Amino acid sequence: MSSHVERFAPSPTGSLHLGHAYSALLAHDAARKAGGRFLLRIEDIDTVRSRADYEAAIYDDLAWLGLSWEEPVLRQSARFEAYRAVIEQFIERGLLYPCTCTRKQIAAAMSAPQEGSAGPGVYPGTCRGRSFADAGGDYALRLDMRKALVSLGGAGVVKKLHFKEIGRGPGREKGKIALDMAALIDGVGDIVLARKDVPASYHLSVVLDDAFQQVSHVTRGQDLFEATPIHRVLQALTGRPTPIYRHHDLIRDEDGKRLAKRDDARSIATLRMEGAAPDDIRAMVGLAG
Ligand code: GLU
Repeated sequence: MSSHVERFAPSPTGSLHLGHAYSALLAHDAARKAGGRFLLRIEDIDTVRSRADYEAAIYDDLAWLGLSWEEPVLRQSARFEAYRAVIEQFIERGLLYPCTCTRKQIAAAMSAPQEGSAGPGVYPGTCRGRSFADAGGDYALRLDMRKALVSLGGAGVVKKLHFKEIGRGPGREKGKIALDMAALIDGVGDIVLARKDVPASYHLSVVLDDAFQQVSHVTRGQDLFEATPIHRVLQALTGRPTPIYRHHDLIRDEDGKRLAKRDDARSIATLRMEGAAPDDIRAMVGLAG
């Protein structure tokens, strides 16, 4: 068997729609064509919004589409210890700080003229430098982006970090995409990597699990292209390998808006109920024949 490993990683917080079907079919077809493996991962770190009935519906829709995947399926809710271990290492390395800002405070800070270099929509670092002793009962753990990049060797080393894009980004980016220290500090900033009681965030869990599952190719929508430099930084910080990325165009509705989980009209379940066949779904996402 080849070392080509693809995964489809839905969150069980809603119904699968055409965009998910597109990701799953692309990943599955690429794995089968390469004689590789296709994995399914349930991204259920949000234990409040994740629901067993959505998870059951994901299996049902994917099987109906004609996909098969390896068992057992990895669920992120079973991986908290692994995430916690990395969070603890990051704390020891001084890369995380506790942030006690409320959502309201963050929204106000982000819309106000920014201090320092952080761009619009970027957390301005209000709690940077806060000690754990000072943080009290509830906090988020933020990555000190500048400190993290300096620990990797600074701008000269960071610009040598890259990932390979075999699909395309929203601005048609493809090929070798290099990281940029200033863009990460000013445009991404100090992202949340965990909460006091939940040792993971999307960014951290996806990076650790892609490595854990030996994923060689990440196929996902262009909405996650902007997250990929963050993932590349986390791979560098944790010594995990970098998969090849294939970001695909987003499936849009008639008005050109991207589909969201709440658009039940385009859910696979609704299309099935209306009599669509698996091949119709393939045709709708441009994968016919
Ligand atoms: N769980 C994410 C989602 O449902 C996708 C994660 C990924 O493909 O990296 O949008």
